[in-house]
Amino acid sequence: MPLTPNEFYTNALNATDADGRLPLSRLTGWEIFPFEADGLRVVPLEKPVIPEQSRRGENGSPCDSCASIGRGEIWQDDRWRLITFSEPSGAPLVMMLLPKDHYDLTDLPDDLAAEFGRLIVHTARAIESLPNVARAHVSRWGDGGAHLHVFFFARPEGFAQLRGTCFAIWDDLLPPTPRDVRDNDALHVAQVLVTSYGGRATSP
Ligand SMILES: [Zn+2]
Repeated sequence: MPLTPNEFYTNALNATDADGRLPLSRLTGWEIFPFEADGLRVVPLEKPVIPEQSRRGENGSPCDSCASIGRGEIWQDDRWRLITFSEPSGAPLVMMLLPKDHYDLTDLPDDLAAEFGRLIVHTARAIESLPNVARAHVSRWGDGGAHLHVFFFARPEGFAQLRGTCFAIWDDLLPPTPRDVRDNDALHVAQVLVTSYGGRATSP
């Protein structure tokens, strides 16, 4: 039997201190963790809330991804769009791949799912063809918006400290990459994608 939300919570509380805080973990002791453990503490675990609040774009709430079509695309075809953000962040390049129609990951039709798989591979390959990028990290979270959106984080070459799952945090800590440099890298990715996959490069 799977744990109910309350059983999951009770099980977690067994590992907390008197304030309901979990202890620091293996991750916080790993050399890629961006913060020193001294003085760090885990926030208290909150009780489960059922039902959960609707995400943007479900149960009648407006979908900002559908509303943003035509903004931010550096590449697109008839069914997909690859966008950059209006403000650069700490990673050399952060992009998001979305279907133009309103689907989440788990209701994507098989024909779009097949294209999605190929596009993830071709986009990651295009990002890793940049000489300043060692790795294209791919992540789908989907807790804020119900419209499928997959992040690509370009991890800069030579920074082993920035490898792995904490890079999304480093992206927020590092100063923004200069906009013209970021835009040139994005244009390169779009052009490589056009050559290897198809579609068209567009101005964001
Ligand atoms: Zn949508």
